[in-house]
Amino acid sequence: MAETRGLTTRAADFSAWYNEVIARAELADYSPVRGCMVIRPNGYAIWEQMQRALDQMFKDTGHQNAYFPLFIPQSFLSREAEHVEGFAPEVAVVTHGGGKELEEPLIIRPTSETIIYAMYAKWIQSYRDLPVLINQWANVVRWEMRTRLFLRTTEFLWQEGHTAHATEAEAEEETLRMLGVYRTFMEQWMAMPVITGRKTDSERFAGALRTYSCEALMQDNRALQASTSHNLGQNFARAFEVTFQTANGDLDHVWNTSWGASTRLVGALIMTHSDDLGLVCPPRLAQYQVVIVPIYKSGEERAMVVEAADRLRKQLSSGGVRVHLDAREGMKPGAKYYEWEGRGVPLRLELGPRDLASGTVVLARRTGGKKETMTLDEVSSRVLVVMNEMHEELLKGALARREAATLRGATKEQFIDKMDQEGGFVYGGFCGSSTCEAEIKEQTKATIRVLPDEEFRSLVPPTTCMWCGRPSVAEAVWAKAY
Ligand SMILES: [Zn+2]
Repeated sequence: MAETRGLTTRAADFSAWYNEVIARAELADYSPVRGCMVIRPNGYAIWEQMQRALDQMFKDTGHQNAYFPLFIPQSFLSREAEHVEGFAPEVAVVTHGGGKELEEPLIIRPTSETIIYAMYAKWIQSYRDLPVLINQWANVVRWEMRTRLFLRTTEFLWQEGHTAHATEAEAEEETLRMLGVYRTFMEQWMAMPVITGRKTDSERFAGALRTYSCEALMQDNRALQASTSHNLGQNFARAFEVTFQTANGDLDHVWNTSWGASTRLVGALIMTHSDDLGLVCPPRLAQYQVVIVPIYKSGEERAMVVEAADRLRKQLSSGGVRVHLDAREGMKPGAKYYEWEGRGVPLRLELGPRDLASGTVVLARRTGGKKETMTLDEVSSRVLVVMNEMHEELLKGALARREAATLRGATKEQFIDKMDQEGGFVYGGFCGSSTCEAEIKEQTKATIRVLPDEEFRSLVPPTTCMWCGRPSVAEAVWAKAY
C-alpha cells in the first residue's frame, strides 16, 4: 500500500480525504457560526492568486471594478418574479438595526443583480452610456444547512460581473466571452479541464434568459459547476426600468449579463489534483512555488548553508518566482519535506554542505519526475521550465482521467449502471422534456450538466433521447454533481 502518512485515501473515503487534505494544508476551518467557514492564510493565499489572475483577465476584456452594498431592500428581490422564487428560500433577512425595527427589512445579498440594476437605471440614459462593464469582488450569503468547506457554505467570496448592452447580440457575445475567460483561467491557471455549454431551463439561473457554465469532473467522478455566465435578456431591465435612448431616438430596455466564480474554485482545485499525500497545487496558483530546505549537521554548517540558501532565495525571487526559505531550527529536513508536501508546494530545493562545495542544488517535484541535481547557475531558469512542465502534466492528467470516466452514446441501462457505480460524464441524446430530466434526477440523482458546446459534442450526434427514446433535440452531458 502506498504511503499516505495517516491521511485517509481517496479510494477509501473521498469525502473524509477531502476534509483531511484541507486540515493538513491548513486551508480552512469550521467557524463558530454554523454554515460558515474560516479561510486560513494558506487557503486565502490560493484565492488571492486566483483573484489576481481573473481580475487581470476581466480588465483586459474592458471591465472595471466597483462596490455595491451588502444590504438590499427586501422589495427589490420580488421585482423579478423568477428571481425571488429562486432565491427567497436561502435569503438571510435583517429586521432590526440600531436597536429599532426597520421599516423595510433588508436582505443580505445572495447575488447583486437587483441592487446593481437599480443603480444602472440612474446611470444609463443614452446608447452613448453603453456598454456598462462592471465587476464586483464581494461576499454573498445563501443560507445552507449542510456545509462542505469551500464547496457549500452560507457565506462565500466571489466576483460577480454585471454588464448592460444596447442589443441582444452584444449581450450574448459578452456572456460567451466571459464563459471563455473562465475556461481559459481554469485551463491555464488551475490546470483543470472543463466542458462548456448551455444549461437546460431547469438548471438556469433564476431570472436569466440563458445560463452557460464550465463543468469539471472531480477525482471521485462527480461534476462540479465551476463558474456560470448568464444572458439576462431584458428581464431585470424591465423590473428596474433600466432604459436608454437608442441612436434613432426610441426608448428601449438594456440587455444585461452577469457572470460569477467563487471560492468554490479552491475546492475544485483540491479535488482535481490532490493525492493521498495531501494538497497538490498547480504551480501558477501556489502561494509558494518553491520552498528551499537547508540541510546541515553542525552549527558551522548551518550558518554557511542558510546563508547560501538565502542567496538562492533572492536569486529566484528576483526572477519572479514565489519562494520561501524554511530555515526553522530544531526540525529535521524530512519533517519539513512532509509538511510542505501536505501543503502542496510544487517544488522543493534541497541545499546541503556537499551541494555547496560542488555549486549544485537538488530539485524535487511534488508530482511526477525524479529528483534532479543542477548547478546554482541553472536553477532559476530550470525552475520556470519545470513549473510549466508540471502545469501541462497536471492538465493532461486531469483530462485523461475525465476522458476515462466519460461514456458517449450510452443506452438507458448503461447510463443507470454507470451512475449507480463509478459515476462520471455520460453523453446522450435528450428530447428536451423537463419530465425526462426530472425522472432521471429522481431515479439516478444525475442532472444535465450542460448541453455541450460544439467542440465537446460527439462526432455522431445522437438521434434519440437516451431515456425515453423519442427524437433527440440536443446532446446532453449527465453526471452526479456537487
Ligand atoms: Zn426524453
